[in-house]
Amino acid sequence: MKKELPYLKSLKEHLARARNVVIVGGGLNGVELAAACSANHQLHITLVEQLPRCLSGVFNDDTCILIEEKLRRKGVAIITGAAAEELEGCHRVEGVRLTGGRTLPADVVVLATGIVPNTLLARQAGLATDENAGILVDEYMQTSATDVFAIGDCAAQKFLASTGGSLTRQAGPAGHEARVAAANLFGLKRAREITVKKISVAIGDLVFGSVGLIKISLAETGTGMPTTALAHDVIAKDLAVKVVYVRETGATLGAEVYGKPLIRVRETMNNLASAIERQTPFAGLALA
Ligand SMILES: Cc1cc2nc3c(=O)[nH]c(=O)nc-3n(C[C@H](O)[C@H](O)[C@H](O)COP(=O)(O)OP(=O)(O)OC[C@H]3O[C@@H](n4cnc5c(N)ncnc54)[C@H](O)[C@@H]3O)c2cc1C
Repeated sequence: MKKELPYLKSLKEHLARARNVVIVGGGLNGVELAAACSANHQLHITLVEQLPRCLSGVFNDDTCILIEEKLRRKGVAIITGAAAEELEGCHRVEGVRLTGGRTLPADVVVLATGIVPNTLLARQAGLATDENAGILVDEYMQTSATDVFAIGDCAAQKFLASTGGSLTRQAGPAGHEARVAAANLFGLKRAREITVKKISVAIGDLVFGSVGLIKISLAETGTGMPTTALAHDVIAKDLAVKVVYVRETGATLGAEVYGKPLIRVRETMNNLASAIERQTPFAGLALA
């Protein structure tokens, strides 16, 4: 799935004539597209996700289940645990064959399976790259060649790529990286800030947000057991809020927020992200 206007206009025209739409990939883009398409009641929409849940890389299972329920109530058919294997049809697409052999009828298929940076040019230039993560850069956005910088979706922070850590491919961080690289062009002086990750997805007017680390194991915290607590009463009474913290130390790791309107969810996510950046413990969040 692309974000360029001509592609989106063409997709809109195809959707206006379609009956059966198959969206492959239950990540942020696939889920938001399915929700948006569901406003057209003529469409039969199927969302296919190879993992057991949609959005399982972003939210905890309970929230993923809730999001899937909301989508189903909007008429979206969801198939999880099956991958698209082949597109069928002669002159135009007629179906999507899934692992297991089932074929879904389709007039329009949207692949929303994520992006992998194209590093060909960088590799030809001899820059260090990671096959999946992108062009490797340090905290100054400098590549393995001192006079070449990389920013945005194609760039991968070296320390994150080597540990397999997730890289946020979003417009905000890309803009920050641009400013960091610009500052460093004439001498290294500004490092990229590591900010708390914020991701949101809208299903109609309901917005689900994830802040910081919400899927973390005991081994990964290094300090104690990650624990989840409902916290809307202290953080935002008009929203649903779950906070993940370390039971032994009280350190706040992340949070999930959902409700409406968008501006209220975003405001709460920003407040929680700032509190996590200031290392506010779970017990102190009400005052943050
Ligand atoms: C469908 C979709 C929805 C998204 N929604 C959101 C959102 O809601 N919020 C958010 O924060 N982020 C969103 N993103 C992510 C966001 O768009 C990207 O993280 C951001 O655009 C990255 O900026 P960039 O400059 O690195 O890449 P881009 O904006 O993709 O720009 C790269 C440009 O480089 C050009 N280019 C590539 N190769 C070459 C070459 N060899 N020579 C010359 N030019 C070249 C490309 O044509 C392109 O114009 C979305 C992405 C997609 C695909």
